[in-house]
Amino acid sequence: MEREEYISKIVERQKQLSEILGVSGHEEKVVEFIQNEVKDIMNELWVDVNGNLIGIMKGESEDGVLLDAHTDEIGFMITHVDEKGFCRFTSLGGWDPRTLLGQSVIAEPIGKRIHGVIGALPPHITKVEERTKPVPIEQMFIDFGFISKKEANEEGIIVGSVATAYSGFQELVNGKLKGKAFDDRSGCNVLIQTAINIANKKRSHTVCFTWSTQEEVGARGARTSAFTVMEKFNIIMALACENTTAAGVPGVAPYMSPSLMGKGAAITLMDNSMIASKKVRERLIKIAESEKIPYQIKTPSGGGTDAGVIHITKHGVPSGVVSVPGRYIHSPCTIIDRMDLVAACDLVTAFVLHPMD
Ligand SMILES: [Zn+2]
Repeated sequence: MEREEYISKIVERQKQLSEILGVSGHEEKVVEFIQNEVKDIMNELWVDVNGNLIGIMKGESEDGVLLDAHTDEIGFMITHVDEKGFCRFTSLGGWDPRTLLGQSVIAEPIGKRIHGVIGALPPHITKVEERTKPVPIEQMFIDFGFISKKEANEEGIIVGSVATAYSGFQELVNGKLKGKAFDDRSGCNVLIQTAINIANKKRSHTVCFTWSTQEEVGARGARTSAFTVMEKFNIIMALACENTTAAGVPGVAPYMSPSLMGKGAAITLMDNSMIASKKVRERLIKIAESEKIPYQIKTPSGGGTDAGVIHITKHGVPSGVVSVPGRYIHSPCTIIDRMDLVAACDLVTAFVLHPMD
């Protein structure tokens, strides 16, 4: 396939994945999309009790490599609907409340998508002191346009309904992509593309794919998906594929920026959940160098990934993380560079195809 066609397929899939609503614990539509993309090339493909999608591509050996990405995005759960139809909500995952006032919101309570906004009171009716104070999430509300609680309920919005902050997918200048949920639909995309890339290739090892749920609320899905795969196969290495923090923006010192957009796939040294395996990290670097795949080392920072759970599952497995750097992650408007996404696809593909030592 021509390189340009390969790149545009990856970008198109990023758009499709980004536009799906799949907050933690409500990821069925993401799973359904991925199933459709890979069902014809997997030897086995199933959804486990916790909603994780697990796919197996057999190799010559029963020894396996585990590739993981998480299907959820951060969002909201409705906690109260008042008599006028305004909705209070709580967080599913880590929002910075400063990014939320005035944002568009989507929900899909009974199949069809509905839109709303997080109400932001205008300066005309707020005092100067109020405007300089951060607003906690508990004081915010979503306005879907309902005129009564009854109407909200009839449209499917009840306590327990979920939603998220929304901005449409857009292609910006210089190959930059903007959208919601790039954390971690980027990783989902990398795993799909890797599966496609290796489908007709000779594989010395079995490749196990886990698209795991509920990472954003504590890497919960990966606990059972990694365990299941490690029960069935002797997993010798694992990679989590993620979207990670890029800075390189005004006001952030270079030493505070874990990764940079446009500099290639990011290879993790350490975060709050794991010190990356030296063996896996060195293998990634060696392969990136030999295949001339753009890469960068992600400097230690906060946050964690599914690899934090995977590397200490059962008897343990040497694990690493390959990420697509993104600016403004955990907001509805993340920006990534499409070539970093492509580099991550190429690096993960080469990682599983290169001979294991
Ligand atoms: Zn993530």
